Amino acid sequence: MATKTVWEANEEIQYFQEYLRIPSVHPDPNYEPCVAFLREQAKLLDLPIQVHYPVNEQNPAVILTWQGKEPALPAILLHSHMDVVPVFAENWTHPPFGAEIDDEGRIFARGTQDMKCVGMQYLGAIRALKRSGAKFKRTIHISFIADEEMGGRYGMRPFVHTAAFKNLNIGFSLDEGLASPTEVLPVFYAERSVWRIYFQISGTAGHGSLLLNNTAGEKLNYIVNKMMSMRAQELRKLENNPELTIGDVTTINLTRAGGGVQSNVVPPLLMVCFDVRLAIDVDQVEFEKKVHQWCNDVGGGIELEYEQKRPRVNPTATDKSNPFWVAFESATSELGLKISKQIFAGGTDSRYIREVGIPALGFSPMNHTPVLLHDHDEFIRADTYLRGIEIYKKIIPKLAEA
Ligand SMILES: [Zn+2]
Repeated sequence: MATKTVWEANEEIQYFQEYLRIPSVHPDPNYEPCVAFLREQAKLLDLPIQVHYPVNEQNPAVILTWQGKEPALPAILLHSHMDVVPVFAENWTHPPFGAEIDDEGRIFARGTQDMKCVGMQYLGAIRALKRSGAKFKRTIHISFIADEEMGGRYGMRPFVHTAAFKNLNIGFSLDEGLASPTEVLPVFYAERSVWRIYFQISGTAGHGSLLLNNTAGEKLNYIVNKMMSMRAQELRKLENNPELTIGDVTTINLTRAGGGVQSNVVPPLLMVCFDVRLAIDVDQVEFEKKVHQWCNDVGGGIELEYEQKRPRVNPTATDKSNPFWVAFESATSELGLKISKQIFAGGTDSRYIREVGIPALGFSPMNHTPVLLHDHDEFIRADTYLRGIEIYKKIIPKLAEA
């Protein structure tokens, strides 16, 4: 087994550590050091770099480009985000932006899994491929985007609608997946639709000593029961079928509640909010109709407000109809990797890419690794990291020649 000194002397590990040491962390990330670092990488790789600002000066979208032999063909996008979620340093055994390597070869830092690893592995693979003299049919763009952890408000969500993005002429995108504690690596081909629904519930107000009709409390009780029984149904589906993962079912969670004026007054208004992730086989029109029906059945006076209401997005095809899937699968099978097709439980930038009709897969080549994204002591093993570069060295040429 290689020692800590050997890892620390490795060129690719050093670049990775340099990137990890930039604290591009929410709630107020400064991306300029990332942009400067990526400009340096572009120079080292001899690749042109573009920096766009889809919404404001604080949130760059960085694109490196390796031009293909047939630049008119739709290009491959190797997508990543630069931002990381906050840390509670007191819970960490290593400094969260130190990128220290321990004696077992584990590299500790926020972003080692989500997802500075993948962004740098793309570049590591491209460095090796360029050095070998390779040249491919399709153009390859490597993107480093802001604000993914906040839902892409200043990042991919607006960027996919800009002329700059359209000019990239993307035919297929790779993006992040998740680490896997087992041998098997998940490949994500779809995401559920996020709906955040506020029910603003009005009712008869009055004194707390009475039994009034049509109160907000009774209506709230009715709505909460309906939503919770739907939640129980989904839980049963999941428990009764070991084939299913959480991404296959609709999740419903009560996340906020409020209202009232004082404890002996029946209030005129109560609020309850649900975070709903609609499974990809749910008819959204029917779902919304059902919710409206409940509101009517309980006597009306309920306003629905949507903080988010994402449309259903077509999953990316994982069969012969999609040449990029065929390329991806053949690369992983030649490497002897075990993969499992899944629907992502959370949200990534891929939803915006798929929304504009571009097929996208989520994949992070880290098996035998505990899932520590957003947790303390996030780490990746140095050998796993370097193995990931080898995996992309196989996948990227296949995609670019598909
Ligand atoms: Zn991520």
